[in-house]
Amino acid sequence: MPSPLLLVPLGVALGAAVGSFGGVVASRGWRGALRGRSYCDSCRRPLRWFELIPVVSFIALGGRCGTCGARLGYRLLAYETVGALSVALACVAVLVRSG
Ligand SMILES: [Zn+2]
Repeated sequence: MPSPLLLVPLGVALGAAVGSFGGVVASRGWRGALRGRSYCDSCRRPLRWFELIPVVSFIALGGRCGTCGARLGYRLLAYETVGALSVALACVAVLVRSG
């Protein structure tokens, strides 16, 4: 069994990424989510690598696009947060059950 110090942070990162993808699918549909790079819905600029880090980039940019300043909306942040917490709690449950 991997160390809890490794498993829980990996679970948070994986859950946030899956939650972020789920949020994009919910807003753009499967085709929109799987086509091309992520972009700002307002100015259509492709997002830079550091703008793709779930939760962290939202907080760092103050919930706005780094170029046009459009609000990103809290729904995507909610998807990312719920995903991160869900997988982290699942990891904790596995660790507790395994002793
Ligand atoms: Zn923008």
